[in-house]
Parts: sequence; structure tokens; C-alpha cells
Amino acid sequence: MASQKTPEHPLPSDREESSQRDPIEGLVGQILSNLGEFNHRDGLRDTPKRVARVLRELTKGYGQEPEDVLKSALFDVSYDEMVIVKDIEVFSLCEHHLLPFYGRMHIAYIPQAKVIGLSKTARIVDIFARRLQIQERLTQQVAETIQQAIEPAGVGVICEAQHLCMMMRGVEKQHSSTITSAMMGVFRDNPKTREEFLSLVSNHRR
Ligand code: ZN
Repeated sequence: MASQKTPEHPLPSDREESSQRDPIEGLVGQILSNLGEFNHRDGLRDTPKRVARVLRELTKGYGQEPEDVLKSALFDVSYDEMVIVKDIEVFSLCEHHLLPFYGRMHIAYIPQAKVIGLSKTARIVDIFARRLQIQERLTQQVAETIQQAIEPAGVGVICEAQHLCMMMRGVEKQHSSTITSAMMGVFRDNPKTREEFLSLVSNHRR
């Protein structure tokens, strides 16, 4: 079992870490023991603490609401052409194995009265990505959040990601990726709109 009494170095985090020991630390210690490691090696001494901290960091989306980001990020416009934010980096943890999946997301919408500040679009993605996820739900949640926030004529979201739980175990070819999409409004109903989105996104791919 890990029992670290030394004071921690404060890390950027929403939690107060110095006063209390995170219960996850003890659990990670148990996992290590059960794997056959008994935390005696130097390299493992602080591992429970580090794992607890990184897990909190990678799931901090649970403590965040997209509404809080959106409050100050909506702008009135008369623009009604497609807005596309491409190549938003996505890093998340699959809820089935707690292993990372990562890739890119492309978001498009056709505003009716409002747009979202560009940098905030990426923050919305982060809030949902920093929860335990499956790629399909992550894609859907981003689309629904944008739809509700600005009620555009439609929203399209595409996510292309690689899953370590498949790659490391050889379940799939190592470089194959999973593509998910969520199409709402005109992106669902109008093939031309959808095609415009897809071609603008795929032209960009390297
Ligand atoms: Zn998985």
C-alpha cells in the first residue's frame, strides 16, 4: 500500500490537494499490489499520487458546465453562412477501459442569429472530453450543446479518433481510426449542406 506522508507539490488544479489525501491514491496502491508490484521500487513510490492527480485532471470536465463557458461567448450576428471550426484536438478516456482515445473534431453550424466565440468552441469540446466517454456520445453532446446554445439552422460534428484500448491490444490495425458524426437540422436534412461540410473538412486532411 502506498502511504505518502510527504507534502505534495501544488499543481494547477481545481481541487485543494495539499491538505487531504485523495482516496484514489490508496486504490491505485491496491491495483499495483494486485498486479504484483509492492511499491518498494523508487519509480513506483509516488505513482499512486501521480495517477490520482492525473485522473482528476483528465476528468475535470465533471466539475464544469458548458453553460458557464457559453455565457460570455455568444455574439449576435447577421451572418448566415456556414461556420466551421476544424481540427480541434481531442483527448479523452474511454469509459470501458480507462485508456485514452485521441484525435480531431470538426464542428460546423449555420447561424441564425448568434455565433459562439471560436476559442470557446474548443473549450466546450474539452469539457465533454474530460469525462469518461465513448466517442459517439462525445460527438453527440458537443452537437447538442451548440444546438441548444445558439439555435442555429443546423449543426454538424465529426470526430476522428484512435483508441489505445484497440491499438495496444491489437484488436484493430494500429493506424485505423474511428469516425463518428452528429448531424442536426439542415446538416441532417439537406445533403448539399452536409456535403459542403464534408468536403471542406476532408480537403484539409493531410
Ligand atoms: Zn476502450
